[in-house]
Amino acid sequence: MKNQNVPELFGSNVFDDRVMRSRLPADVYNSLKKTIDENVKLEEDVAEAVASEMRDWAVEKGATHFTHWFQPLTGVTAEKHDSFISTSPDGGVIMEFSGKELIKGEPDASSFPSGGLRATFEARGYTAWDPTSYAFIKDHTLCIPTAFCSYSGDALDKKTPLLRSMQALNRQAKRILKLFGKEVKYVRTCVGPEQEYFLVDRKVFEERPDLIYTGRTLFGAMPPKGQELDDHYFGVIKPRVTAFMEDLNKELWKLGILAKTEHNEVAPAQHELAPIFSTTNVATDNNQLMMEIMQKVARKHDMVCLLHEKPFAGVNGSGKHNNWSIGTDTGVNLLSPGETPYENAQFLLFLCAVIQAVDDYQDLLRLSVATAGNDHRLGANEAPPAIISVFLGDELSAILDAIKNDKPYEGQEKVMLKLGVHALPRFSRDTTDRNRTSPFAFTGNKFEFRSLGSSNSIACCNIMLNAAVAESLKQYADRLEKSDKFEDDLHELIKETIKAHERILFNGNGYGEEWVKEATEVRGLLNLKTTADAMPYLLHKKNVEMLTSHKVFSETELQSRCEIMLENYCKTVNIEGHTMVDMVRKDYLPAIEDYLLSLAKTTSMMKSVSSSVKCNYEISTMERLSELTDYILERVKDLEKALEDIKDSDDIVKTSEAIRDDVLPKMEHLRKHVDEAEMLTSEKCWPFPSYGKILFSVY
Ligand code: ADP
Ligand code: MG
Repeated sequence: MKNQNVPELFGSNVFDDRVMRSRLPADVYNSLKKTIDENVKLEEDVAEAVASEMRDWAVEKGATHFTHWFQPLTGVTAEKHDSFISTSPDGGVIMEFSGKELIKGEPDASSFPSGGLRATFEARGYTAWDPTSYAFIKDHTLCIPTAFCSYSGDALDKKTPLLRSMQALNRQAKRILKLFGKEVKYVRTCVGPEQEYFLVDRKVFEERPDLIYTGRTLFGAMPPKGQELDDHYFGVIKPRVTAFMEDLNKELWKLGILAKTEHNEVAPAQHELAPIFSTTNVATDNNQLMMEIMQKVARKHDMVCLLHEKPFAGVNGSGKHNNWSIGTDTGVNLLSPGETPYENAQFLLFLCAVIQAVDDYQDLLRLSVATAGNDHRLGANEAPPAIISVFLGDELSAILDAIKNDKPYEGQEKVMLKLGVHALPRFSRDTTDRNRTSPFAFTGNKFEFRSLGSSNSIACCNIMLNAAVAESLKQYADRLEKSDKFEDDLHELIKETIKAHERILFNGNGYGEEWVKEATEVRGLLNLKTTADAMPYLLHKKNVEMLTSHKVFSETELQSRCEIMLENYCKTVNIEGHTMVDMVRKDYLPAIEDYLLSLAKTTSMMKSVSSSVKCNYEISTMERLSELTDYILERVKDLEKALEDIKDSDDIVKTSEAIRDDVLPKMEHLRKHVDEAEMLTSEKCWPFPSYGKILFSVY
């Protein structure tokens, strides 16, 4: 890497603004730019001109195929490749790519999850170009970021509602800015997602069916060394990992992804990569790509990149931090405290909008990060609790308190705060005292939503966040637009909002038991511990009303999504359960049998040689292991029965509850006995690599 010119490499596989400006005729470029910035409809002739230039550029770069690249509800990305070739009269081929092909594709939608949308609507779907996210080349294929919809216009993907939510926020935020005398072209949210992951050696990975089938270990006794020494976090990066990171950065940079910060994380074999933030839909596309490229590059280095939220019990799992802010086309960050009284008031209003949004739609934020994998982290004292709350820090909290109570703010100097008249007292934007236990923390000029799992698409939580904040802003704009005493009414509004929503503000330790009690019993906050608990909230009346009124989702889309997410939860755990049964019956029990046999043989032979040997070790181990095999057999039968019971159920809510209440506890129980047996059995007889071998497989 050292000898390469990064600025030259950066974006070299992206049809980005630089390429467009230099290659497209000025009028085409200007129309496209208007579409990108202001959402103006793209004319057909412009699309034609862009397509032709895009093809030439891609072919020059060695591309032979193109694909509409989209994000169906499977959570990963999808692509169907078509080559550029078209027959020519001389019997040869020419490379063709039309405006139509750029703008619209028609993949067969029938094999993607649609959650009932397919039953009522046509099976076919279409993909539509999202010109705000640049096309790029990957594996000799020109990839065109697209939205994916059914023919009746229902969104079948994550990008469509994300773009709609950004539009909703844009609409409402512009109304608010107008009240402050500001006309802007657009307001957009930006995100910088910090991505955690594990790296393990490929050979070790391949010996673990649980990792192969489910992405996590379903068994495994604790190794002698885990993360207790805290020696991995920010530690020296191992040469093999460094080589991987260098390669990864190079690949990401080529794709225009702003890979910036990398370090070791808390658990052994755990790492993090953070890009520089960008517009939310671009950040979402980039994060999907980043996860894909991480896995590919790891393979090249004979390693496997694990993106599961909890690959190993007993050591930290992986999350993703969604750093989120709202900004204007003029480069103003609306979550940045300002210098003038007016800017301060505006900042506080946007701050209130977020606080209110998080309080009113805690359930939507919680369910936006709910998956079977992430359920293992939230509330497990390694990640924020399942209870959603907002951290503002002491100083900003004191300012809000002063406003709420009409009391002087007791900062460095005592000041009464009258919004729109007084500047905010200076408060430090030092980010060092950040509270890591908070799910939703204000970090100076952005909010950091920390509940996401490492494999989550960031689209989901940003859809909910954008929509909920759009709703707060809408309520404010409706009220303030009617006001003839703007400053007074603004002050009153902010005061009321703080009073109404202060229950969501919490600066204390989110990992503590006391918080769970206070949050649920005193403050009435939700504690939705699992996906099965959280997901049905998507269809609660207030949520459906809010999301449909801002045109982020239709009611049918919400029903389908709820079903798909629950189905996904059930299928995931079902596969895990069956994998456990398989491993126990085919490998663990026979392996313990082998060891028992060798112990029995040893004992009887030793006794036949000498009558004075006691064989305490052999006999006690044999007795306990034999007991354990009986328990294991019983537990595996229990699990089989639990899995059988849900097999034919067609009520997805009931199934998900059975998974939560019956299947998962039985899996846990089975594991406990197998892990104990592991500690008593010779490593030579044990069929799969131990935790120690996996966690320390890369050195
Ligand atoms: P950490 O949380 O690990 O201390 P940082 O706070 O430095 O890391 O940044 C984390 C992420 O936040 C990065 O991806 C960064 O680009 C992003 N970020 C910084 N400023 C903003 C902003 N205004 N809006 C959105 N994301 C931001
Ligand atoms: Mg962070």
